[in-house]
Amino acid sequence: MNLDLFLWLKENIRDHALTLAVVVVTIILVYHFVVDRRRGPLLSNKYRQSLFELQATHFLNASQYLMSGQKENAIEELLSAADAHKEKVEAYFALGRLYRTSGEVHKAVGIHKSLIARENLSEALRLQALKELAVDYDKAGLVDKAVETFKDVLKINREQLEVIKNLCRIFEDIADWDQALNYRLMLSKLGPENQSDTISHILIEQSKDFFQRGEFLASKEKCEEALKHSPSVSVRIQNIKLLLVNHKVTHAQVELLELLKEHPLYGSFVFVELFTVIKNQEKNSAYQLELKKLNDYFLELEDLELLKDPSVQLAKVRLLKNQGRSSDALDVLEKWKKSFPLQGEVMKIEHIQLLIDQNRQSDALKETNELLVSLQGSSTRHFCSQCGHNSDHVFWRCPQCHQWETIQFRWKV
Ligand SMILES: [Zn+2]
Repeated sequence: MNLDLFLWLKENIRDHALTLAVVVVTIILVYHFVVDRRRGPLLSNKYRQSLFELQATHFLNASQYLMSGQKENAIEELLSAADAHKEKVEAYFALGRLYRTSGEVHKAVGIHKSLIARENLSEALRLQALKELAVDYDKAGLVDKAVETFKDVLKINREQLEVIKNLCRIFEDIADWDQALNYRLMLSKLGPENQSDTISHILIEQSKDFFQRGEFLASKEKCEEALKHSPSVSVRIQNIKLLLVNHKVTHAQVELLELLKEHPLYGSFVFVELFTVIKNQEKNSAYQLELKKLNDYFLELEDLELLKDPSVQLAKVRLLKNQGRSSDALDVLEKWKKSFPLQGEVMKIEHIQLLIDQNRQSDALKETNELLVSLQGSSTRHFCSQCGHNSDHVFWRCPQCHQWETIQFRWKV
């Protein structure tokens, strides 16, 4: 076996650095292998024999991999050979993480599985290896396996905040709100941080699902439960929707006004949230009718305090546009422009679009020009990809983070 390897190496030695590394590792391992065999009396006969067999298998595999050009696999086999009787557990955890962060997740999985299977590993380290394995699966996008493995960790020890947080994230990602709620509640019991806001949001997601299916009673129950945890904006918007389906428009108007006064900044997306399509056609048209009444109430609102808020104005403009009333939307913006500047690029873009829509080309051109001037003035030509440092100069060494050649050209303003 070693003679074959030697001949092969002689022919391929100039291949590249990785091969060289493999050769060095092989030589070291073969050396240790021989020394250990001689150091017989220190180990019991039975143990020594099984080690010998295991190492021999790994060496055989490794040399076969090497000859077929699969160097990475060879390294793995060699590492396994080293693993057979050396207690370098930390090194393997480090190696596992290294493989995972470099995107070679299957190798990380291999390392962590072999750690878990070790007979003489302490329970704490086995648990750590199991956690690492779950993170590997998670990183690889194998959601089912990740969930299963994270759950296995919790079966051994429930008080694993990181694991619970990971399960929360996964279930929130896949919008499995029942499970997301389950683990968020667990986190609130075990962890130091208050989870009421998030629990409330999850309950509202459940409430929205029921709402879309036309199951308003179940939707209302979830909304009320959410309110007990936190009176967040999402709870209040969902409450308005439920008032509308129950034909309580006046009550919904009061709630909307209060909500906008407390959180004017949310004005522009309250209406996006209110617009929901219910899957049952009959229930949907009833809801859209009530929503129209609420929208009309908002558009005719002459509340001075509210009218001073740009996001409420933007909500008005967008609502009018959605109703096909571009000319009214333009009126709102132009009236606003007389007393206040247009807020940010968004309002300016809305304005330009409405001008184009109303065939006012020369005004549109003038406003577009102003927008372009302000965009150019507010953005630099270059930025640092490392730290975000902005500059019009060409900086080969970033003056902020001192990295070389991190300069990027700015395509997007
Ligand atoms: Zn920098």
